[in-house]
Amino acid sequence: MTVTQVRSSLNEIERLFDGRGRQAYGGELVSQTEHALQSALLAGADGASDELICAALLHDIGHLLHSGDESLVIAGIDAHHEAIGARWLARHFPLTVSAPVRLHVAAKRHLCATDPAYSSDLSPASQQSLVVQGGAFSEAEQRAFTAEPFAAPAIQLRRWDEAAKVVGMKLPAIKHFRAILERCMS
Ligand code: FE
Repeated sequence: MTVTQVRSSLNEIERLFDGRGRQAYGGELVSQTEHALQSALLAGADGASDELICAALLHDIGHLLHSGDESLVIAGIDAHHEAIGARWLARHFPLTVSAPVRLHVAAKRHLCATDPAYSSDLSPASQQSLVVQGGAFSEAEQRAFTAEPFAAPAIQLRRWDEAAKVVGMKLPAIKHFRAILERCMS
């Protein structure tokens, strides 16, 4: 990517968070932007790589690119925000960013099948979306998922995702992550 392309992608990301990012995050009491910032801060606090911090920040960008999918979940339709987001990210970032994003819903279905503590901690909204997303994985689906090259980072991302719903937390602006995003852009 040229310097101009990187700058315009960074501006587009910031515009998305400043716009649709203000909307509520999937039936939770935090906004999309608060959720993204908390996910990225949790990743950073766990010592994650720059790429995984970017993945955490941008894991729900599919929601920001795709309008109205909140009403789809309520209607029982899965808009596959993880695929929409990963496709967009693959144009701007390496696979180490886009692949964990593509797998973050699969990681939830995997954790629900394998980690009782994780599934019992799911928020009501996350339990509701799990049904729309196809529910906990079967044993065959779990095997297929763990064979994916980016299964492990997707699981890490998923745990930050689930924890990033704290109401009223003091957070930096999206610009705080601009340098990390810039470093990771391919
Ligand atoms: Fe999320």
